[in-house]
Amino acid sequence: MRQTTGVRFETAFLSNNPPDDERTKRLIYWCHRFDELGLAPKSAGNLSFRTKTGFIITATGIALSDAEKENLVEVLKVEMNETQIRVRVKGRVVPSKESVLHSGIYALRPEINVVFHIHDELVVELADKLNLPGTEGEQPRGSHELAQEVNRVLGLNGDAKYLVVRNHGIISMGETLEEAGKLVEDMHKIARNRKQKGGRNEGNSSL
Ligand SMILES: [Zn+2]
Repeated sequence: MRQTTGVRFETAFLSNNPPDDERTKRLIYWCHRFDELGLAPKSAGNLSFRTKTGFIITATGIALSDAEKENLVEVLKVEMNETQIRVRVKGRVVPSKESVLHSGIYALRPEINVVFHIHDELVVELADKLNLPGTEGEQPRGSHELAQEVNRVLGLNGDAKYLVVRNHGIISMGETLEEAGKLVEDMHKIARNRKQKGGRNEGNSSL
């Protein structure tokens, strides 16, 4: 069910060294944790944290269960127009196609140092019942339009650190990796409890 944007995604490699930052260990921990929780089916999900020169993010097309230092990459710059997205990176792999989304959030919210995008299908399903802020309409994955819509919703919800991307996934943000990660776990737990209350026979998760 992969949607394409019709926009060309180009990567310019400025260095072949994988990012060297202590925090990558914790980023990898959260990649594996979300996989354990079933929140990253196939190669869904992209996780990043801010650096002095940009942000370090997971590669495109990599399952979070396979995340390791070599498939992380530092995005230094994202440039875009209607037909093309061009990213400048340090590393060996092509960054997530959602780099545009991450870049937009870091530009808008100076206090946010971590952005996790994953596919928590339970939260997506119950978004309205849980009264969570979320995007309207549906924008193609990895598109400028999706990044703009997320920024619009964040603009309306001042200090929100969690929002739903309609029919798609969620975005969790934090000042630290642990804050954004725990928020994902907490919201997943809340959704699971809500689902169980809503109908005991409705395919409860056994996580
Ligand atoms: Zn997604």
